[in-house]
Parts: sequence; C-alpha cells; structure tokens
Amino acid sequence: MPGDLTLNKIARLMNPKWNGQFSCFDLVAKTRERSRSVVQVRDLEIGGNDFVVMAGPCAVESERQLLQTAEAVAQAGARVLRGGAFKPRSSPYSFQGLGLEGLKLLAKAREETGLAIVTEVMSEQDVDLIAEYADIMQVGTRSMENYALLDALGRCGRPVLLKRGMTATLEDLLRSAQVIAVAGNSQIILCERGIRTFETATRNTLDIAAVPVLKTVAHLPVIVDPSHAAGVGALVPVLSKASAVVGADGLIVEVHPSPDQALSDGSQSLTFADFRQMMQDLQPYLDLQQAARQLRPQLLAVGGAD
Ligand code: PEP
Ligand code: MN
Repeated sequence: MPGDLTLNKIARLMNPKWNGQFSCFDLVAKTRERSRSVVQVRDLEIGGNDFVVMAGPCAVESERQLLQTAEAVAQAGARVLRGGAFKPRSSPYSFQGLGLEGLKLLAKAREETGLAIVTEVMSEQDVDLIAEYADIMQVGTRSMENYALLDALGRCGRPVLLKRGMTATLEDLLRSAQVIAVAGNSQIILCERGIRTFETATRNTLDIAAVPVLKTVAHLPVIVDPSHAAGVGALVPVLSKASAVVGADGLIVEVHPSPDQALSDGSQSLTFADFRQMMQDLQPYLDLQQAARQLRPQLLAVGGAD
C-alpha cells in the first residue's frame, strides 16, 4: 500500500535528473534531517496527521452567500474557508471580486464559524492588506512565477498556498517555493490544481502523480484542488478520493449555495449536499494510507446549515 515503501520505489524510478540535483530548491527539498514540515495555521496543522479540507466559493459574492457557505462547509468537516476577494479571471470582462469588502466578509465568516481563511493575493502591492485578513495567502496558477509577489510573500509572516502554474513543471513549482523560502518564509503549502494538456474533456488535467513526486522530493505539505483540475463538479468527489489515496495532505474545493447562479466557476462548484456527501465518503480512502489520516471536524459553535 502507499506509504514509505511506495515513496522509496518512486524515488528510485523517478527521472534520474531529479536524483539529488535539488540545488535550485534546496531549502524545500527533502533531506535526512528535514523530511516533513508541518504548516501551522491557527490551531490547525497542515502536513501533520490530519487531512485538512479547505472549501468555499470561488469568489466572495455577498455576505449571505459567504456566511451560508461557511456554515455548511464547517458542518461538513472543512477546517478552512476559501473565497477569492481579488479574482484573476480568464476574461477581463468577468466579475473581478469584491476586493476589500470581500476580505471583511471573510473575516466575519471566520469570526462566526472558527474556520481559518485562505484567499488569493494577485499583486505584491496587496500583500500587506490581505495579510491583515487572511490566515493563508493563496498564489494562483497565473501568478506562480510572479517573483516580485513571491518575494513579498517571503516577508508577509503568513503561510502561503502556492498553486502550480498551469504550464509549470514540478521543478518550476519547487523553484517558486524556493523563492518564497529564500525571502524568509518556509511556511509553504504546495497545491496541484491540474495542468494544460491536449485533453479537452476536463478543464485541466489533474497530474495525480505530482502528489507522490512532490512528497518524495520536498518536505512541504501537498494539497490538491480537484475543482479547477476537473472544471466539472461531478468529477470532484472521485478526484478527491484519488488525492487521498496517493497521500495528499488535504484538498481545496469549490462549494456554492447555488452553483448555477455563481458569478464564477459555477460548473465546477459543489452544492452543500454534494460536498457533505463527498466528505462522508472520504475516510475509507484516507485509511488506505500507511500513516492513516483522519478527517477531524472542529467542534462547531454554529447553528444548522441550509
Ligand atoms: C481559484 O482558486 O479560484 C483560482 C483562480 O485557482 P487557480 O489559480 O488554480 O486557477
Ligand atoms: Mn475558481
């Protein structure tokens, strides 16, 4: 079964150019002394024994939408609320996010549910402002090689969720992680979110092998974003199960009260009921890991969802 044995095998089978040639990302590479790092976010440990699920809307749209979603995902066992306030959209004519107002709503949702907050930062000019509100600073796929941004995040004092560029190799991803680490921040979570291939049936192609490869060569936690990988909500639960089996440390999933009304990424967003079902179905797949992980919902102080 997966676990150390499999990882050692992967390390032996991997492209020989990876063997020991980690100088461009030596600060994040796995070593005998540093084989695993845990990123502390409030009372949560990402990369430890818990499987941490981050969930919420693609974009913060309104107070009602966000608070309802926060409550529903917390009830279902998520520990971190996602939601973009500053949105990088494929079209410049699409909804660009609520900006500061969105950040304030995220902070309110944290207060009401106890969930930690992850939200995207697109520009180095926004780093200080977003760090005042976010518990985790998200770097989107389009920004993975924005070195000015990565450098500023190295000094922001907050953990960083670094998403893989859609055309980036794993070596590119680790080099970007190194830029953040060199600037002084080693609290980095890597995220596989699908890459561009010739396949058009899915929005991106989930590179499921990225998880065991990254966990073999780097000491950082690795999570998967099945929503942006699939582009279709119906595929998200099975990709989440696959991520659990290959050893991911968690997930980031898009959830919306009414996906068909969402201002962004509705087709890949789960309803509350589908998310709840997905969470209920995950544990047996986590048990397939040698170091069995647990979904450990927080004790809730919120009322009923829906
Ligand atoms: C997002 O998380 O909403 C997002 C824009 O993700 P990505 O950068 O992976 O496309
Ligand atoms: Mn999205």
